Amino acid sequence: MKYDYLVVGSGLFGASFAHEVKAAGKSVLVIDKRPNIADNVYTQDVEGIHVHRFGTHIFHTNDKEVRDYVNRFAVFNHFTN
Ligand SMILES: Cc1cc2nc3c(=O)[nH]c(=O)nc-3n(C[C@H](O)[C@H](O)[C@H](O)COP(=O)(O)OP(=O)(O)OC[C@H]3O[C@@H](n4cnc5c(N)ncnc54)[C@H](O)[C@@H]3O)c2cc1C
Repeated sequence: MKYDYLVVGSGLFGASFAHEVKAAGKSVLVIDKRPNIADNVYTQDVEGIHVHRFGTHIFHTNDKEVRDYVNRFAVFNHFTN
């Protein structure tokens, strides 16, 4: 099969880019050398607990458009730094 785009890396950029081009009607293949998606942001659900496999990641932005965008994809835990 031929794809419009080949994305090397399923990190935040690759995943977001792939999502957007797919939404725009293009075909895209995402490959990654790691066995997990999301690179270092990858989390596992272990008995209801989000385990950050490669180190803690905290989402922070003061940009409403960015905040609204990412909230389409996940339910975020509340965190006070
Ligand atoms: C321990 C830790 C904690 C962090 N905490 C925070 C935080 O709290 N808040 C925050 O905003 N940011 C944090 N960051 C930074 C954040 O993780 C990165 O900025 C973000 O993940 C970068 O995304 P990216 O898509 O640009 O790159 P990456 O996530 O690095 O994605 C690149 C992908 O490409 C793949 N790849 C590379 N080369 C190849 C190849 N040759 N073939 C196939 N696949 C390949 C990699 O496996 C990877 O999946 C943290 C980083 C670390 C390491």
